[in-house]
Order: sequence, then C-alpha cells, then structure tokens
Amino acid sequence: MNLSSGRHYLAIPGPSVMPERVLQAMHRPAPNIYTGELVEMVAGMIPDLQAVARTRHKVAIYIANGHGVWEAALANVVNRGEKVLVLATGRFGHGWGEMARAMGIDVEVMDFGKRATFDLDAVEARLRADAAGEIRAVLAVQVDTSTSVRNDIAGLRKAMDASGHPALLMADCMASLGCDVFEMDAWGVDVMLAGCQKGLMTPPGMAFVFFNEKAAQARKRVEIVSSYWDWTQRADPAEFYQYFCGTAPTHHLYGLREALTMIVHEEGIENVWARHAVLARAIWAALEHWGQDGPIEMNIADPALRSHAVTAVRMGTPSGTDLRNWMSRNAGVTLGIGLGMADPKDPAWHGFFRIGHMGHVNSHMVLGVLGSIETGLRALDIPHGKGALDAATRVLAEAPI
Ligand SMILES: *Cc1c(COP(=O)(O)O)cnc(C)c1O
Repeated sequence: MNLSSGRHYLAIPGPSVMPERVLQAMHRPAPNIYTGELVEMVAGMIPDLQAVARTRHKVAIYIANGHGVWEAALANVVNRGEKVLVLATGRFGHGWGEMARAMGIDVEVMDFGKRATFDLDAVEARLRADAAGEIRAVLAVQVDTSTSVRNDIAGLRKAMDASGHPALLMADCMASLGCDVFEMDAWGVDVMLAGCQKGLMTPPGMAFVFFNEKAAQARKRVEIVSSYWDWTQRADPAEFYQYFCGTAPTHHLYGLREALTMIVHEEGIENVWARHAVLARAIWAALEHWGQDGPIEMNIADPALRSHAVTAVRMGTPSGTDLRNWMSRNAGVTLGIGLGMADPKDPAWHGFFRIGHMGHVNSHMVLGVLGSIETGLRALDIPHGKGALDAATRVLAEAPI
C-alpha cells in the first residue's frame, strides 16, 4: 500500500508547477523559424513581458537559466576590473557576486546574514563613502530563495538616491517576478533579471534581462561584450534570429505565450500578486501554530520581510530531511531542501526545508501541502502545536474575493 500514488506535487521554489495549458501549448510540430506565426507571436509577447515587469523599457531574452542572465546582465554594464556592490541576504546574493568575481569584476559584498534584510542606512553610508564613484552597480536580490527574505527594492532606490551615487540598481527577480509585487519603472530599477521557470510557470530554459535607458547608456562604455551576451540586438532585432542570437527556443516560446496569457490577460498581474499574498499568509499561519509547541520556526520572523513565493523553515536536525523524505514517500509532495543554510556535509544541513508557493498554485494545493506536513509531523512524532490547519483555512476563508 502506498499513499503517494496519484498526482505528485513539486512544492519546491523552482522549477514550479507547470499548468497543463502550458504543456499542451508546447506539444506541437516544429514551427517555421523564419516567417509566420512564431515570428509574430514573439513580437506580441514583448508587451506582456513588460506588463509583468511593470516597465516600458527594453527586454532581452536569452536561452538560459538564471545563472545565464546573472552573467548576461553584468556583461553588458560592467568592465573587467570595475567594482560592484553586492547586498547579500542569502545564497543567491552571494552566488551572483561569485559569478561577477569570476568575470574579473571587483566585488564588494555587504553581508546582512541569513535572517535579515538590507540595512539601507548602511548601504547609503557606503555609497556616500565612494566619493570617486567607483561602484558601477549595486546588485540586489528581491527575494533570496534560500532564506525567503523579501528585500525592499523601492527603499534601496531611495537610499541610493539619497546618497547621490550614480551606480546602476540591478535587481534579481528570479524567484519573485509574477509572485511578489514588483514595479520596475515606478521603483527606478535600472536592470532586472528573471527566468521563466518560477513565477512564469514555464519549463526552465529561458531568461530575461530588462533594462532602462540609463543601463543602455552604461552598455556603451563597456569595451568587450560577446555578441552572444550583448543585449542590444536582442532587445531591438532587425531580423527574427537576432532576438535569440540564433535559433529561437521554439517550444518554450509557445509555453511562455500561454503562461503570459494566463497571467496578463486572464487573471491579471495584480490578482496574481494578491493570490500569492493570501496563499503565503495561509502557509505562515500554519507554520506559526506548529511552531508554538515544537522545533518549527520560520526563517524570517517579520511577516513584512517574507516572500510570497517561498517560505524557508528551520526545524532542527535531522527533522527537516526526515520530513521531506516522509512527504515524498508517503504524501506525493516534494518539499525544497534548505539551500545555503548549512554546509551539506554538516549534520545541521538536515534541519531545514522550504515550501515553494510560486506560480500555478491555488488554495487546494496549499492545503494539500499543509495537511501533508501535519500528517508527516504526526507520523514522525515531531512535536508541533495544534490548530495549524484551522488557522490556514481561516486565512483562506476570510480572504476578500
Ligand atoms: C532560482 C534563482 C536563481 C538561479 O536560477 P537558475 O535558473 O537556477 O540558474 C537566481 N536567483 C534567484 C533569486 C533564484 O531564485
């Protein structure tokens, strides 16, 4: 007997659940890549990508994952030997900085730890101290998927403006685009990057760099950019192949087209944000109750600093791994590992898990995960407070519709 037979649910923070409609849109023969439907479809997707990013500026599309656009974004605005300031609040901030360093960029990291957001006063002071204007760009992750902190990108813009520093503001919205509120133009973000496999509900393999006029100007002073990474032609192609510097990712594009239709034209981006906010609050309500009697604790204590796309949880060794294993074997749910919280060789690594709640997620999926976690805690005899599911259903029932 096995209680996990049935539809499996991948509740990790990316890749996320793909809608059947997205999968079906991809199930077709190879299209013509020179003229016709595909060519028109891609031109029509640019306004929808802009709508999701809340920008009227440019977008370059890459056949890449998030790491690819980390490199693409930097390659267009920073010369080798120049300096960037990385604001790290978890594994992904550090990862972007490590990639910059490997590209020969001079990287300075301000590390705010794994349980906190940026100290904006400290950032402002650091920028003021850079009187010579050596820092070319500030690299900030909106939601660090490892810690599930949500950083205040609008506040960062204000701190940068207050310092009078001309550095570019570059935001990694891989985990948050299409989940947490993000306003590229209103918040004054110069460069934003994201992938297709999280909030955009499409299989991994495409990623985006959005950039404004200030960033386009910065591109002009970069001496060497490979024609593959160069965003100039991708964002303003004279020929179709220039969008992708070669063959288009044909089937991914059909999938993304469908996902953008769902997000922009059917549900609406603001409703998508609102849905993520309510589902996140239901998850937090359950976690709070479990934590009242036992080892479970959300990594980010302040709800105002928590992502609506992913929640990182601490629960002591080895309970995190035990619970994850129990869930996949007995409930048909895969939870995320505790990325970057401890060294994988350290026993402490087994004391974490993450719940992905990004993209194609609804109330019954969230209740399925929460009910399964509660079942696992019971089966494994892990102490936990009562009333968690009651609290989660209250949040959902009281949500304004
Ligand atoms: C997922 C993620 C990345 C990396 O994306 P890959 O597609 O795995 O390369 C980068 N930054 C953040 C915040 C992410 O969540």
